[in-house]
Amino acid sequence: MVGGRRPKVSGARVAASGTWTDDEGVRAPAGEVHAWEPGTNQTVCGLPLHRAGLTRFSHVPWSEVQPDTGGVADEVGWVCPRCSAAAGGRAERRWQRTDPRP
Ligand SMILES: [Zn+2]
Repeated sequence: MVGGRRPKVSGARVAASGTWTDDEGVRAPAGEVHAWEPGTNQTVCGLPLHRAGLTRFSHVPWSEVQPDTGGVADEVGWVCPRCSAAAGGRAERRWQRTDPRP
Protein backbone atom coordinates (compact mmCIF):
# COMPACT_ATOMS: atom_id res chain seq x y z
CA MET A 1 0.00 0.00 0.00
CA VAL A 2 1.37 3.33 -1.03
CA GLY A 3 1.10 6.12 1.49
CA GLY A 4 -1.51 8.80 1.36
CA ARG A 5 -5.05 9.16 2.46
CA ARG A 6 -6.88 6.05 3.36
CA PRO A 7 -10.55 5.94 2.52
CA LYS A 8 -12.58 6.83 5.55
CA VAL A 9 -15.46 4.44 5.95
CA SER A 10 -17.60 4.94 8.99
CA GLY A 11 -19.75 1.87 8.90
CA ALA A 12 -21.54 2.96 5.76
CA ARG A 13 -23.34 0.31 3.76
CA VAL A 14 -24.73 0.31 0.23
CA ALA A 15 -28.04 1.24 -1.35
CA ALA A 16 -28.43 0.47 -5.04
CA SER A 17 -30.93 0.80 -7.87
CA GLY A 18 -30.44 -2.80 -8.97
CA THR A 19 -29.68 -6.24 -7.61
CA TRP A 20 -27.97 -9.31 -8.91
CA THR A 21 -27.18 -12.59 -7.28
CA ASP A 22 -23.79 -14.19 -7.55
CA ASP A 23 -23.02 -17.88 -8.00
CA GLU A 24 -23.24 -18.44 -4.28
CA GLY A 25 -26.64 -16.85 -4.01
CA VAL A 26 -25.44 -13.70 -2.32
CA ARG A 27 -27.29 -10.53 -3.20
CA ALA A 28 -25.06 -7.84 -4.59
CA PRO A 29 -25.67 -4.26 -5.68
CA ALA A 30 -25.96 -3.26 -9.34
CA GLY A 31 -26.54 -0.10 -11.29
CA GLU A 32 -26.48 3.13 -9.36
CA VAL A 33 -25.03 2.92 -5.87
CA HIS A 34 -25.16 5.26 -2.89
CA ALA A 35 -23.78 5.04 0.60
CA TRP A 36 -26.29 4.33 3.33
CA GLU A 37 -25.94 4.28 7.09
CA PRO A 38 -27.86 1.46 8.75
CA GLY A 39 -30.63 2.83 10.91
CA THR A 40 -31.47 5.64 8.53
CA ASN A 41 -33.94 5.64 5.66
CA GLN A 42 -32.02 7.88 3.34
CA THR A 43 -28.71 7.78 1.55
CA VAL A 44 -25.70 9.69 2.83
CA CYS A 45 -26.32 12.30 0.10
CA GLY A 46 -29.90 12.73 1.28
CA LEU A 47 -32.03 10.67 -1.11
CA PRO A 48 -35.00 8.95 0.52
CA LEU A 49 -34.41 5.24 -0.15
CA HIS A 50 -38.02 4.41 -0.70
CA ARG A 51 -38.84 7.26 -3.02
CA ALA A 52 -35.66 6.79 -5.03
CA GLY A 53 -36.41 3.08 -5.45
CA LEU A 54 -33.14 2.02 -3.84
CA THR A 55 -32.56 -1.35 -2.23
CA ARG A 56 -30.55 -1.63 0.96
CA PHE A 57 -27.58 -3.95 1.18
CA SER A 58 -26.87 -4.07 4.88
CA HIS A 59 -24.32 -6.87 4.37
CA VAL A 60 -22.27 -4.91 1.81
CA PRO A 61 -19.80 -2.35 3.17
CA TRP A 62 -19.43 0.80 1.12
CA SER A 63 -15.79 -0.03 0.46
CA GLU A 64 -16.87 -3.16 -1.42
CA VAL A 65 -18.45 -1.23 -4.28
CA GLN A 66 -15.50 1.05 -4.95
CA PRO A 67 -14.33 0.26 -8.48
CA ASP A 68 -10.65 0.25 -7.51
CA THR A 69 -10.81 -1.94 -4.47
CA GLY A 70 -14.27 -3.36 -4.00
CA GLY A 71 -15.10 -7.02 -4.21
CA VAL A 72 -18.64 -6.63 -5.55
CA ALA A 73 -18.19 -3.73 -7.95
CA ASP A 74 -18.60 -5.80 -11.12
CA GLU A 75 -22.20 -4.79 -11.80
CA VAL A 76 -21.94 -1.31 -10.39
CA GLY A 77 -22.51 1.25 -13.11
CA TRP A 78 -22.32 4.50 -11.21
CA VAL A 79 -21.06 5.46 -7.78
CA CYS A 80 -22.65 8.56 -6.30
CA PRO A 81 -19.92 11.21 -6.07
CA ARG A 82 -21.59 12.97 -3.16
CA CYS A 83 -21.79 9.76 -1.18
CA SER A 84 -18.19 9.00 -2.11
CA ALA A 85 -17.08 12.36 -0.83
CA ALA A 86 -18.97 11.89 2.41
CA ALA A 87 -18.35 8.22 3.09
CA GLY A 88 -14.86 7.88 1.67
CA GLY A 89 -14.31 7.21 -1.98
CA ARG A 90 -12.82 8.77 -5.01
CA ALA A 91 -15.35 11.16 -6.34
CA GLU A 92 -12.79 13.09 -8.28
CA ARG A 93 -11.73 10.13 -10.31
CA ARG A 94 -13.72 8.86 -13.26
CA TRP A 95 -14.20 5.17 -13.32
CA GLN A 96 -13.44 3.11 -16.36
CA ARG A 97 -14.70 -0.42 -16.46
CA THR A 98 -11.82 -2.83 -16.54
CA ASP A 99 -11.67 -6.55 -16.41
CA PRO A 100 -9.27 -7.58 -13.65
CA ARG A 101 -9.12 -11.21 -14.70
CA PRO A 102 -5.83 -12.28 -16.29
ZN1 LIG B 1 -25.58 9.39 -3.04
